[in-house]
Formats: sequence, structure tokens, C-alpha cells
Amino acid sequence: MAVERTLSIIKPDAVEQNNIGNVLAMIQGAGLKVLGTRMPHRSRAQAEGFYEVHRERPFFGELVEFMTRGPVVVTALEADDAVKRYRTLMGATNPAEADDGTIRQAYGTDIGENACHGSDSVENGKIEVGYFFPEYLLK
Ligand code: ADP
Ligand code: MG
Repeated sequence: MAVERTLSIIKPDAVEQNNIGNVLAMIQGAGLKVLGTRMPHRSRAQAEGFYEVHRERPFFGELVEFMTRGPVVVTALEADDAVKRYRTLMGATNPAEADDGTIRQAYGTDIGENACHGSDSVENGKIEVGYFFPEYLLK
């Protein structure tokens, strides 16, 4: 299996509820290696750029508002099959549908405020890690 990189974002809801350590413990407990982490409070323009693919969706304004209301914890992860493994650990987008043992089941509130983001493909994992951690782009 190939070593991949994927981007995790602990969203403002989970940061506000003091769940940074709990989420990172689940990530490390699942065997995903932390390459680097940062805690930026992002601007509206940055959040709009990151979620550009969702611009036409009805919840775009709400999503940008949410993702900019406080700091987030952005973490670059590396492991065999990291993209799929982290998506599985996060659980379904809607926490009400997320399996037991997932981050969203444990710490998500609703389909918007769902505690975490994870890259959705190997290609996007590379792009998103490079976006927040340019020092990892060429390695
Ligand atoms: P995922 O984060 O599971 O990949 P999507 O890429 O479909 O999910 O959506 C990106 C983010 O937009 C979600 O994590 C969630 O915060 C928000 N979102 C998705 N669907 C809705 C919705 N119906 N209403 C409000 N916010 C939503
Ligand atoms: Mg997505």
C-alpha cells in the first residue's frame, strides 16, 4: 500500500469545546503520523478559497462563516492509505449518521458543525498538505 499524505482540520466547534487533544489522540491512536500542525485563524478569503469547489452549494456562506469564526488546527498526516483511513476515522459528514468510534460521532454537532475536515482523494491530500505546509510539498 502506498504512503500518502492527507490534511486534517479540527474545525472551530471542536476547538471551542476543548477537543483538540481528544481528536489528535484519536488520530495518533489510529496510527496516522503527525508531520506538522498549525493553529491559524483564517480570513474569509482564505476559507472561500479552500472551499471553492462548494461555492455554488446552498450552505457555502454558512460554511465560510463557521470556518472563520475562530482558530482551527490544521495537521498534515502521513501513513499507508492515509486518505481513506482518515476519512473512515472521521465518519459520515452528518454526525447523526457517523459510526461509533468516529471523530464526528464523538465530537460533531450537526451536518455543518461536524468537528473535522479530511482530504477526499490522494490528489487533494497532496494539494491540501502543500497549501498549508509548503515545506512538505517537495519532499
Ligand atoms: P465532507 O467534509 O464529509 O467531505 P462535504 O465535502 O460534502 O463533506 O462538505 C464540506 C463541509 O461542508 C462539511 O464537512 C460540512 O461542514 C459542510 N456541509 C456539508 N453539507 C452541509 C449541509 N447540508 N448543510 C450545512 N453544511 C454542510
Ligand atoms: Mg469534502
